[in-house]
Amino acid sequence: MQGSSRQPKIAVAGSINMDLVLRCSQFPKPGTTIVAQSYDEISGGKGANQAVSAAKAGAQVSMLGRVGDDAFGGRLAGGLNKHGVDCSHVLATPNCESGLAMIMLDPTGQNSIIFVEGANGQFTPEDAGQMRDVIQSSDAVLLQLEIPLETVLEVIQIATSANVRVILDPAPVPEGLPEELLKVDLICPNEHEAEQITGIAVDSHEQALAAAESLYKKGAKHVAITLGSRGTFLFDHNGGRLIPAFETKVVDTTAAGDAFAGALAVYWTQHDDLDEAVRFGNAAGAIAASRMGAQPSMGTRSEIEGLWKSIK
Ligand code: ADP
Repeated sequence: MQGSSRQPKIAVAGSINMDLVLRCSQFPKPGTTIVAQSYDEISGGKGANQAVSAAKAGAQVSMLGRVGDDAFGGRLAGGLNKHGVDCSHVLATPNCESGLAMIMLDPTGQNSIIFVEGANGQFTPEDAGQMRDVIQSSDAVLLQLEIPLETVLEVIQIATSANVRVILDPAPVPEGLPEELLKVDLICPNEHEAEQITGIAVDSHEQALAAAESLYKKGAKHVAITLGSRGTFLFDHNGGRLIPAFETKVVDTTAAGDAFAGALAVYWTQHDDLDEAVRFGNAAGAIAASRMGAQPSMGTRSEIEGLWKSIK
């Protein structure tokens, strides 16, 4: 695999949600009704977003997860298919709704969100066990924490026992995060998640180093703390270093972290050079931040390469 540029196989085990976005002049007070100015259905879920990012960055991607048996379930899988993501391991869950986020946005950009876990919460370790073959025949597995933690742990165990690389975006950070979850090949929290896990606020280079070192000591072989417009702080056996962001005109930073993780996974499995993979992920994150939305905002391989090669 090292140095190869063949199309890598990546499995993404995680959440698949429909975001219902309502723009309104103000939030409704209890017992009142207001009229929204607009309504959009946007495919999301950190798992699905990472899958789209990796597929657009050039990998052969299998999505592992659950949707409901409602109308959203078929639409969510159809949307992933359109981006080239294989959904033969996305299970339809009888008598269950798909994961859903009701997002109200006011004119100042403030939001108010109600989240329904739905079928994501029904993705069990037994389901993951049934997907052993696709996990173990992948070059890397991408995980986040919007599905049950015992399922994430099972996927890590299945992948690790076959020497498949595991990349974890530990978001959202749950209360009492089990430390076994951190024993992965690469953990890529953003600065807030890094603080939640380590208790170290990431405001300076020294603090980023301390937080990353703490995650490394807890068992992550490589640590990449994403710092938004500042870039990514990478730490491993070679020590800590900042890999700066690409300058971009920011439109909407939704899913920049998902774009980063998906693209990084593709480059890292193809070339086995993590510093360069982080730079590639930074380019994908910058492109996602420069466009509206989540999955549609992700760059294609040639767009990411264009930006990445512009500063070399
Ligand atoms: P998350 O979406 O998980 O909070 P970040 O906001 O840290 O993650 O973004 C992930 C990566 O995307 C960053 O490390 C950076 O490389 C890139 N990125 C995000 N925001 C910007 C920005 N405003 N300008 C340039 N790059 C950005």
